[in-house]
Order: sequence, then structure tokens, then C-alpha cells
Amino acid sequence: MGDSFSLGRISGIRVGVNWSVLVIVALLAYGLAAGEFPAAAPRHPVAEYVVAAVLTAVAYMGSLLAHELAHSLVARRNGLQVEGITLWLLGGVSRLQGEVKDPGAEVRVAGVGPLVSLLLGGGFLLLAWLVHAAGVRGVAVAALAWLGGINVLLAVFNVIPAAPLDGGRLLRAVLWRITGDRLTAAVWSARSGQVFGWALVVVAAYLVLVRRDYSWLWFALLGWFLISAATAESQQAVIQSRLRTVPVRQIMTPDPVTVPASVTVAQFQADYLPLHRHSAFPVVADGQTVGLVTTHRINQVPVGERGQTTLGEVACPLPDVAQATPDEPVADVLPRLNACSESRALVFTDGHLAGIVSPTDISRALERISRNPGQFESARR
Ligand SMILES: [Zn+2]
Repeated sequence: MGDSFSLGRISGIRVGVNWSVLVIVALLAYGLAAGEFPAAAPRHPVAEYVVAAVLTAVAYMGSLLAHELAHSLVARRNGLQVEGITLWLLGGVSRLQGEVKDPGAEVRVAGVGPLVSLLLGGGFLLLAWLVHAAGVRGVAVAALAWLGGINVLLAVFNVIPAAPLDGGRLLRAVLWRITGDRLTAAVWSARSGQVFGWALVVVAAYLVLVRRDYSWLWFALLGWFLISAATAESQQAVIQSRLRTVPVRQIMTPDPVTVPASVTVAQFQADYLPLHRHSAFPVVADGQTVGLVTTHRINQVPVGERGQTTLGEVACPLPDVAQATPDEPVADVLPRLNACSESRALVFTDGHLAGIVSPTDISRALERISRNPGQFESARR
């Protein structure tokens, strides 16, 4: 579910929209214009229903965006990296990197979204009431009331304690506080997400197939998405708990081959690539590591520009590369891995580059653990 087009940045946070949003806006607008509004405020011109319905559907997407922005802004204030927000078929997603420090931060980041939806819902309902009290009748009141109701519903649905819903995060925070262990809490909140997802799929399938109520198709889809997201989360938590005892030092490739930032892509392909079978190279300038370049990034440079483009220009800059120390547990590094460095981490000792960790190193370590759990020495925490 990538961004199909961008809405630019709001408070520095990148907002993108997937094309599937158009499907939702169209379906919503159709439902409102053909059903909801004529029933609530009969005998108005069709054009009035259509305009109001489109505006309402867009305002609904705006409400979703406000919900996600709240998550992202609070996440940023609590030390997480925000990659951006995407609106898509099943709502909004804030792509957050890193992990909150404590259950309190988890509650703040997860709780603020539903809170904003609740406030918006209350605001729209109040507005609908005021407009109605002022003697206005018709589609505008129906639209405001609908927006109020849907935002309240959104708040309520999102606090259902099932990962990856906000309520699942809140549940994780509570379990984390009780057990003192974030990963155990993550496993249980992910399980609750799987159970809720299946329940939603079964109920929705029953209503669609037996009662022929096709409006539940969307919920069946949502349930399916929740199951797969919760399953991925529980796998992630299990992997992390296994890698808690493995120090980075043990899985990293020490003293990686570095490349100068001033070398062009063409030179690199001619002189470096044939000699080394690596897929990622730390980039250095004046003896300092300044970034990480991957063969994937190199291949994206158009052939005609490879003679002029330097590695320094295509590298993922150091501040965006996940960094680690040799003695920390691999589990602590996982949340920092990101798309810019293609899930690789650079390992530093006292500011000096000591090694590199690739996804292959991590999966090899996991394989070894599952074959021989006692093989790894304990990581210093
Ligand atoms: Zn949320």
C-alpha cells in the first residue's frame, strides 16, 4: 500500500494518499447521496445531495488524517521517527520507526488518535445541533451529524483492544506495565488482534453470505488485514525476544569494505563491485563514515548519469542509517532498521566503524538459534 500521490507535508510530516482512497470516497459519497441524505432530509435537489455527499466524504478523509497526524506528532515528541502518513482503503497509517521508551509513552502515542476522533465527533455533533437550533434544516445538518457520528464510531472502534488497532497498543502498554516486559506484552496484544480479526471475518462473512448484507464486505476485508498485521507483529515479537540474548558483535560482518564518497557510480561499478560480493558499502569522506550505499540504490541511478553521480550523492546519509554498538543485543537494533538503509545497521565503537549488520546476518542468527538455542553467549545489556 504505497503512496500514489502526495499531499505534501503537514508540520513536517509527509502525507501521501493511495489510489484506493478514491474508491472509498466514491463509495461513501454514493451511499450518502443516494441513501443517507435523502432519508434524513427529503425533497432536496439531487445536485445538493451529491455536492454535500462529496464534501462530507472528503471531510471524513480529513478526519482520518487528523487522527493519524495526532499519532505522528505525539510519536515524534516521544522520540520516534515518523516516516509519513498514508491514507488508504482501510483508513490511515502512520509509519513510525523506533520504539517508545516506556508504557506511558505508548499510551500517549496510541491514545491521542482516538481522542482526536472523539473530540472531532463531539465537535461535529455540537455544530449539527447548533445549526439545527439556529433553524437551519436540510442536508447540511444531516452531513454534520453524520460526520459527528462516524468520528465517534471511529474512536470507539479504534480502542478495541486488538493489535494493530490503537486499543491493541493501549493493551500492550497495560500488559507491559504489569509484566515489566515489552515483548511478552507485544505477543499477547498481537494474539488479541488475531482473535478479533478472525471474529470480524466470521461475523462479516456470515452477514454477507447468509444475510446478503454486502456493506459488511469492507469489514471482512478489514478483519483479514487485522489478522495479517497482528500475525506479523507476533512473529516480530517472537523474533525480537529470541534475539535479546545475541550481541550485535556476534552476527555483524566486521571491518566492512568502505568506498570513498567522491567515487562516481561508474567507477564504483568498474573498480569495486567486481572485487567484492557485498550488497552494501559504508561511504567515507575524510576518514569519517558519512552514509551507506547499496547496490540497489546504485542500480536506480540512470545509466547516462552514472559517470557524473558520486556515491556520496546516492548514499543513505549517516543520520538516517540505523546505528548500533557491538555489545548491545540484536533485538534492540531491530526497531531502528529502516527503509533508507534497506534494513542494514552500521556498528560503531567509540565513533569508529566496526562492522555492518545485514538482514541476512539476522536471519542466519535466527536459524542458528532455532537449531541450537544455547549457542549464543549473553549480550551485555
Ligand atoms: Zn489510530
